[in-house]
Amino acid sequence: MSVDESSEFNIQDKAGVQQTDGILYMIDDSKMIVAMVQESFGMVDELIERGMAYQTDSIEELAEVAELDAETLASTIETFNSSVHTENDAEFGRTSFNDKVEEGPYYAVKLQMAYHLTFGDLIVDEYMHVLDSDNNVISGLYAGGDILGGFEGDTHQSGPCMSIVIYSGREAGINAAAGN
Ligand SMILES: Cc1cc2nc3c(=O)[nH]c(=O)nc-3n(C[C@H](O)[C@H](O)[C@H](O)COP(=O)(O)OP(=O)(O)OC[C@H]3O[C@@H](n4cnc5c(N)ncnc54)[C@H](O)[C@@H]3O)c2cc1C
Repeated sequence: MSVDESSEFNIQDKAGVQQTDGILYMIDDSKMIVAMVQESFGMVDELIERGMAYQTDSIEELAEVAELDAETLASTIETFNSSVHTENDAEFGRTSFNDKVEEGPYYAVKLQMAYHLTFGDLIVDEYMHVLDSDNNVISGLYAGGDILGGFEGDTHQSGPCMSIVIYSGREAGINAAAGN
């Protein structure tokens, strides 16, 4: 993907949908897949069984089964490995480096961008009263959680949802019970 893959979700999402037909391939080696399998409860095996991921012993075979250009795939991996080695990504400005793609078997997972996530978009005041389109309180209506909108601006950072969800749900309950 022609973007820093350690950047924010919204930057990666936009770059993803700009790929041809919105399709991209995640290329992994065995080290990465072992880590993923531990976290994904067998999801990788299921993806392979369903033909949505490919596993081969060499990069050349991977290009063949995934119908990717072999030379482009090999040179992309070589460039990536070199930037991991030097911790310098001159092409896309990646700032986070883990491991090289170097230990077979190798994997390609086919991804197609649809949407990242949606939020409900109700606007509330500090008491969690839901506001109407003129920003007036709708009496007796409170809201909290993912049904709210506007609290993250135009981006999404992984991790902070639970804080606003718990805070807003608690406030909505307290204020509804107190009739505030
Ligand atoms: C894959 C994934 C990873 C995530 N990772 C993180 C993370 O790392 N950090 C983080 O902060 N957030 C994360 N989130 C987001 C976080 O899980 C949500 O923001 C949070 O769970 C939303 O809480 P909620 O109570 O608003 O909604 P929900 O948890 O969706 O609860 C809504 C509940 O209402 C019930 N319900 C729906 N309709 C009705 C009905 N008509 N009658 C009765 N009950 C109904 C549903 O069954 C559900 O139990 C992640 C979300 C996903 C999907």
